[in-house]
Amino acid sequence: MKLNKHRNQCGGCGEYFATLTAFDGHRVGKFGGAEPARRCLKPAEMLADGWRLGRDGFWRKRASTRMAGWLSRCDADRQARKVNERRERATDVAEECRKLKPGS
Ligand SMILES: [Zn+2]
Repeated sequence: MKLNKHRNQCGGCGEYFATLTAFDGHRVGKFGGAEPARRCLKPAEMLADGWRLGRDGFWRKRASTRMAGWLSRCDADRQARKVNERRERATDVAEECRKLKPGS
């Protein structure tokens, strides 16, 4: 397995993840001993939640590549707005993101 800063292996369950978002997403529960305790999703749970285990052996969250493209565009847009319109409220940015969402 070739790993990099995005492709990573979980030290807890040993599964491989295509993105940090996917890695973060498979960690559920609460920190600090609160219930439900912090743990890894089981492969069966990830499949049930619509995750996909790619042919390359890496898990991906259910967001489609199209959606991932939208998210990165939206994020870039948000960053630009942050610089150019510092007074813009977060809710306004969220509204803008909704407008950009394809098919809505
Ligand atoms: Zn894990």
